[in-house]
Amino acid sequence: MTERSLDQACAPTAFTAPDFAEVSAAADALDAGSLLDSRDHPAGRAATALALYRSTEVPTEDIVAAATRLAERRSPRLHTFSPLYTTNHCDSDCKMCGMRRSNTGMVRRFSGKREIEEQLRILLEHEGVRGVGFLTGEYDEPYTRLANAFRIGWAIERAFQLGFDRVYYNIGSMTDEEIAVLGEWITPEQPVTMCVFQETYNRTTYDRFMGGAGAPKADYDRRLSSFDRWLDAGFRHVNPGALIGLHDVESEIVALVAHAEHLDRRGAVVDVSVPRLRPALASSNKTKVDDDSYVRLIACVALACPDNRIVLTNREDRAFRARVLDLCGVISPGSPDVAPYRRSDAIANEENSSQFLVAELSRPSVILADITSTGRSIASFDEPVVAR
Ligand code: SF4
Repeated sequence: MTERSLDQACAPTAFTAPDFAEVSAAADALDAGSLLDSRDHPAGRAATALALYRSTEVPTEDIVAAATRLAERRSPRLHTFSPLYTTNHCDSDCKMCGMRRSNTGMVRRFSGKREIEEQLRILLEHEGVRGVGFLTGEYDEPYTRLANAFRIGWAIERAFQLGFDRVYYNIGSMTDEEIAVLGEWITPEQPVTMCVFQETYNRTTYDRFMGGAGAPKADYDRRLSSFDRWLDAGFRHVNPGALIGLHDVESEIVALVAHAEHLDRRGAVVDVSVPRLRPALASSNKTKVDDDSYVRLIACVALACPDNRIVLTNREDRAFRARVLDLCGVISPGSPDVAPYRRSDAIANEENSSQFLVAELSRPSVILADITSTGRSIASFDEPVVAR
């Protein structure tokens, strides 16, 4: 029996978020202090993460230290990719996002073949980065969705041809047909990670932020089931995430960790994202989770999911990065503007063409070299000779 058929025989293929009250009761029955030095979580990883997050007995520094010890066993310790927004057109209307279709102040842009290839060359030659994440909006019409999958499939293949060694893509939910169209450009062995952040696992909050007549992202279930379709098609790399601040933190921790555990059990390579809200054009976004709570949240997820890499981006500034870097397995510096990279020293993050504004607008090579200067190594990054 192959690994995949074994997986399909033994595990349910569809994820359903657990009942929060049940996990909450299981968490309250745990001795949080005893969870620090164990990789086994008999009550489930979600209950472990919640018990630690809630505990008034276990200080955050102890959770950080324990999670860091577990993360040190991973190889490579850190890897990197930079986001590449290939357009800011979108048919969805998510309230927290500058790219939403109703945002008439957004200057819409679209990268063609030459611009995408030039951006990839800049990342390789000028930034020294061999990991890239392609992004688009999410589209409504079936033809547009398929054409977008085809276009991003082409971009992924082109990135590998040019010398990238890992690729992420984040283009919204994916149907079987869309996965088949994108999948023709790659093989299951290649490290291509599907990123489909649920943003919030609470359906009411999801409807409030992602709803809207005809908005493709309003389909909660199509979004939630995308990873399982990707795994069913034979691919392995996935990146679930929750946008911290949209809904109650405890219930998001429980659902996200349970989702990661489900994907892990299916044999996936799982990265986990827990970004905080950032300011965006014509949005009233504010970070609702303070730094100390956010560090604790990241540490609890890292401890409960030691085989999964937490993704850290320059949504957070340098000072905060220093507090959590050793809990993370992926550092992703870059800009959420369309085709933002330059052969000069600057990168673009214009409010009227970006999904949001980052906290630290530095070139990827500058952020990554700052990290390697502390003695840490980062896979998929070689500091370029021309960087400064
Ligand atoms: S979050 Fe994504 S799907 Fe929603 S409006 Fe922004 S780009 Fe579109």
